[in-house]
Amino acid sequence: MAPNETIVDASGIEKTYGSGTARVDALRGVDLTVRAGDFVGIMGQSGAGKSTLMHILGCLDTPTGGRYRLAGRDVSSLSDRELSLIRASKIGIVFQSFNLIPRCTVLENVMLPFLYGNPNGSERDVTERAREAIARVGLDARESHTPAELSGGEMQRAAIARAIVVRPLLVLADEATGNLDSNTSEEILDLFSALNADGTTLIAVTHSERVAQRCRRIVRLRDGRVE
Ligand code: ADP
Repeated sequence: MAPNETIVDASGIEKTYGSGTARVDALRGVDLTVRAGDFVGIMGQSGAGKSTLMHILGCLDTPTGGRYRLAGRDVSSLSDRELSLIRASKIGIVFQSFNLIPRCTVLENVMLPFLYGNPNGSERDVTERAREAIARVGLDARESHTPAELSGGEMQRAAIARAIVVRPLLVLADEATGNLDSNTSEEILDLFSALNADGTTLIAVTHSERVAQRCRRIVRLRDGRVE
């Protein structure tokens, strides 16, 4: 991905839940451009629309209005199946609760994205690529462990390895340090900073000023709009 290439081109993004008296306008016309190599923090109070925006940017959901182009492709109104293929090959997501599969080892967890489609068309051995990602996050010595045998920080490293293993266009982090103590949080933030320095494009949804300090820029949401 060339530096400055536009990864996220979202304009006028709207998301409405429910209808009638139960209608909630969670996003009311959000514009967001993210270029390759950026590290964007999305902040805002609870209910501002951060998770909704993250779900749309991560192709977990589609907007009810507006247009979202991911690396030039309009993904605003794809089917669930098409969205899951895009997610598998183009997007890595890191969650607060890690979302590792308990009965799988670190290596198996990190290989999982390759089960969905054929990300980036690579013919290379998936085990080797998973091991590279595990080494990148400093977890080589733990590849045969299951999540229950790992610390919180190690679990998040494994989840980050899983997020980067297909070399996605975009990595999204949803309160990725929210379950970690402050020292471990700093280590995970160091890892995100290092990945960004290597060219990984990152979007972090966060309440945390410490996370915000690592971002190159902050987008603040309020009542479904960019402030
Ligand atoms: P944040 O992540 O900033 O706390 P959310 O995106 O979760 O905000 O929520 C934005 C608004 O949309 C809130 O008013 C919330 O109650 C509402 N909302 C979120 N998800 C749903 C849903 N699935 N159904 C109905 N309303 C929702």
